[in-house]
Amino acid sequence: MISKLQAVLHSKCPKCRTGNMYSGSAYGLSRQKMYEFCPNCGFKFEIEPGYFYAAMYVSYAFSVAEVLTLALATAFITHSESPWLYIAVLFIAIVIFAPFNYRYSRLVLLHYLSPKVSFDPKLYGEGKNSADLKG
Ligand SMILES: [Zn+2]
Repeated sequence: MISKLQAVLHSKCPKCRTGNMYSGSAYGLSRQKMYEFCPNCGFKFEIEPGYFYAAMYVSYAFSVAEVLTLALATAFITHSESPWLYIAVLFIAIVIFAPFNYRYSRLVLLHYLSPKVSFDPKLYGEGKNSADLKG
């Protein structure tokens, strides 16, 4: 059985930690797409309409952390005072981190910030309960 952190890192369903939440990888050639239902246990990821608006706040926190870290690293490495350097670095960082933030903000929201959603060890394991919950 895998831990909650491993489940988040591997983009697994919060309910069964077995089914993938996304098709494709965050940085694959094809665009990543979130499944509507868990392919293993049938859990509906968007537990209520508009639920993932809350993920924007998580994503915002990620962005602030990334931008601050990079701005400080840029200042530390280059000792530059040019605002253009910082604007360029941060703009590129935001673009590069966008797929990561999109994916992991939803994962963190479902795994850590949703008291309604909890791991059910009975559902853990490939294929279990998938047949009768599909369709
Ligand atoms: Zn599942």
